[in-house]
Amino acid sequence: MPFNFSVHGHFYQPSREDPLTGLIPDEPGASPFPNWNECIFERCYRPNAEAENFRKISFDIGPTLLRWLERNKPATYQQILEQERQNFQLYAISNAMAQAYYHLILPLASREDKLTQILWGIRDYEHRFGHAPQGLWLPETAVDIESLEILAEQEIQFTILAPWQADVEHVDTNHPYQVELPSGNSLAVFFYDGYLSGQVSFYPAATRNADEFVNDHVLAAYHGEDGSQKLVLVASDGELYGHHQAFRDKFLSYLLDGAANDAGLNVIFPGQWVEDYDIQAEVAIRPNTSWSCHHGVDRWRGVCGDAPLATWKAPLRNALDRLAGAVDQAYLDLTRPFTAEPWELRDDYIQVLLGQTPLPELIRSHTNGLASLAELDAIGVLLEAENNRMKMFASDAWFFEDFDRIEPRNAIHYAAYSAWLVKGATGRDLFTALKADLAQAVGTDGALSGDAVFSAYWEWLEGHHGVS
Ligand SMILES: [Zn+2]
Repeated sequence: MPFNFSVHGHFYQPSREDPLTGLIPDEPGASPFPNWNECIFERCYRPNAEAENFRKISFDIGPTLLRWLERNKPATYQQILEQERQNFQLYAISNAMAQAYYHLILPLASREDKLTQILWGIRDYEHRFGHAPQGLWLPETAVDIESLEILAEQEIQFTILAPWQADVEHVDTNHPYQVELPSGNSLAVFFYDGYLSGQVSFYPAATRNADEFVNDHVLAAYHGEDGSQKLVLVASDGELYGHHQAFRDKFLSYLLDGAANDAGLNVIFPGQWVEDYDIQAEVAIRPNTSWSCHHGVDRWRGVCGDAPLATWKAPLRNALDRLAGAVDQAYLDLTRPFTAEPWELRDDYIQVLLGQTPLPELIRSHTNGLASLAELDAIGVLLEAENNRMKMFASDAWFFEDFDRIEPRNAIHYAAYSAWLVKGATGRDLFTALKADLAQAVGTDGALSGDAVFSAYWEWLEGHHGVS
């Protein structure tokens, strides 16, 4: 059977917790649910788990969402893991991909941040699924050579990109490609079918009936009759199935457990292809491109045709970039007398987030024994400052045109919290510069500015004495 078919769902929610309390503040837009996680859980995550779709599709679920599911919806969380495990036991390959941890636009991140985010994503995956990931989903499929090099160094075998991210006029998406990297390493890339994925994402009429979807659309996506193995891969946000479009959880279930088989298609996962076939065709990728901005990665750093009025985006990114540099400096100044590997220490901080290693033990294992108790404490606080200053770069803050939304607000809260931790641990003032920089980020209607969001939150933080 040379006609293979696969559907990939990218599931993700950003961190929504207040960094100090660890609780999600009420999100009025999600009413009658207390917040968006609860809302999308009822419409999408739970019904898809109940339909066993996490056994049928290829998927990635962001670590921030998995963490929330684990703590708040343990039964569904276990169902999802169990559905992946069935495949892993049956085929010795997984249908779950890892994801870079906080969903940063990796081409806009420093090399250290890329590495930490990818490593944390891999460690998180291993912790939950119990084996190493074969594939890793790049947030917004935003790609550059450095990120691919890091994936290959970490023995990730493949990723999935949009067809326009291939550096050729027209890429045949009926098979994956090998991308040769400057280091001599290489990585497989699957390009999803752009037409089909667009139909699934944006034209609900196309997915009312799974049999019609296969007959009218999927079969036409196989090109040529040379008898070679072919693959049609559909990729979209997972939240589409049930949340953005009602009943599509049921569509998905029958598509992969009925309609596709009836039409003679072989339902597989990208990991199986990598395992079973030699990938010989080579392709170059267009660096600094993504699946949801048609202007490279401009959507997440300034004005672009997808959000032409968002003049607040560039100042917000500049403010957070500057803060990140200052937090890094504070962290390096504090840790350098005691360790030659401050970034490795940060990479291993995921063990603390996952509850695998107590914080004092982790710090002791990376430091030379010369630090006082107070200095060890301060290092712990700055690791948490580093954690929050990566969290603040989650892509969501820059996605929409409007500044007056939860996502930019949360980014500023995480930034403020990071600066507040640095102040508590070292006395350093990072907040004056941050506030001044954020004053440059003003919503389109002029009603809200970044420094107002910052000041309100900072005041609230200062009402809580000491560093917890
Ligand atoms: Zn754009």
